[in-house]
Amino acid sequence: MRIACPHCGERGSEEFSFLGAAGLARPAPDAPADAWHEYVYQRDNPAGSYSELWHHLSGCRRWLVVTRDTRTHAIASVVDA
Ligand SMILES: [Zn+2]
Repeated sequence: MRIACPHCGERGSEEFSFLGAAGLARPAPDAPADAWHEYVYQRDNPAGSYSELWHHLSGCRRWLVVTRDTRTHAIASVVDA
């Protein structure tokens, strides 16, 4: 998969580190255990558009939000996180 970094241009995905889903809301420190379990362990697994956090580790070292189709890996957008 090739990712078009807005700062470095198109690069191979091996230059990046994947973190996970973008836009997860962290629970308050005193939130119930169920909220923390949901935040840490439960993830959607959609067939279609999905936004993820990627770190350009071997490039500009910026965090990016990559929106891609999980069925085809076609990337719709790449923006700074
Ligand atoms: Zn970059």
